[in-house]
Amino acid sequence: MNNLPIFDGHNDTLLSLLYSGRTFFEESSSGHIDLPRAKRSGFGGGFFAVFTPNEQYKMVTKETKDGYETPLPPPITQEYALQTSLAMIAELFKIESQSDGGLKVVTAAQELERCLLNDTMAAVLHIEGAEAIDRDFNALHVLYQAGLRSLGLVWSRPNAYGHGVPFRYPSSPDTGPGLTDRGKDLVKECNSLGIMVDTAHLTEKGFWDVAGITNVPLVASHSCVHAICPMSRNLTDKQISAIAESGGVVGINYSVNMLREDGGRDPNTSMDEIVKHIDYIVEHFGIDYVALGSDFDGTTIPAEMKDVTGMPILIEKLKQRGYSYDHLKKIAWENWVRVLHQTWKE
Ligand SMILES: [Zn+2]
Repeated sequence: MNNLPIFDGHNDTLLSLLYSGRTFFEESSSGHIDLPRAKRSGFGGGFFAVFTPNEQYKMVTKETKDGYETPLPPPITQEYALQTSLAMIAELFKIESQSDGGLKVVTAAQELERCLLNDTMAAVLHIEGAEAIDRDFNALHVLYQAGLRSLGLVWSRPNAYGHGVPFRYPSSPDTGPGLTDRGKDLVKECNSLGIMVDTAHLTEKGFWDVAGITNVPLVASHSCVHAICPMSRNLTDKQISAIAESGGVVGINYSVNMLREDGGRDPNTSMDEIVKHIDYIVEHFGIDYVALGSDFDGTTIPAEMKDVTGMPILIEKLKQRGYSYDHLKKIAWENWVRVLHQTWKE
């Protein structure tokens, strides 16, 4: 039995597998997560994101006088998003069936907890950006039956449901409009089905729109602290306070440019920067509201961490900072599981 499994708020491993051709079952020197590396590192599972990139579009980052900006790609169609999402969801189910019990797509909180404590990797099916959902929400209901338990309304790129932040440093997250009327209906529909609504990537207005509607704890699955790194994707103290008051959680992102005070994109960034963001939330808001949200396979993480095999280094650093075993457990998995108990219907 593993008492300190890591349950993680966000990975882009499905997309990485699709693009790289590496398999989930063989150890690779590229990417951040595969089963052998995860097993060795105490990675017990997490939200596996289904994300549809724009076709033939390259994100270009422009230097600005005091930082950078990466403009957002144009919207994509629902048909294209659904087709791509189905391919990635199918990939996850193929992995599950080929894993010989090693990975389970979980849809209930007790099942998640059982997997974590028994060394079965737990995957929560998450869609990042709601483009695949048609305006009648038929796809939402069908995907729910297929195991969807978490939905990010936007991946920064605007869609029928809301607006997200462009990737900009320095910048407030208040960069534009929030949810559309249909977006507000989508939050209610997710609440009634028991699908977690992820506020990561939303504009600040969109965040407050969700906060005003949802009847479950607020969640930002892979975001950091704006007071430390003033980047558009990070959360202001007011937002973190609302998450804490709702009993929700922030999964800290390991993306170097979201961690560093100077917003730099240098992989030579110490993992101590991750600890700083965790400390900040613990000191200002409490131990119950912070967790991990690596963004493995989706971003540039500190070279010191390398990939999922660097997780024990992070845990060790937290121990050295004085976190007790009970507090480590909350950060590693219990806070996430608590929120999912309150969010999911089963
Ligand atoms: Zn993301």
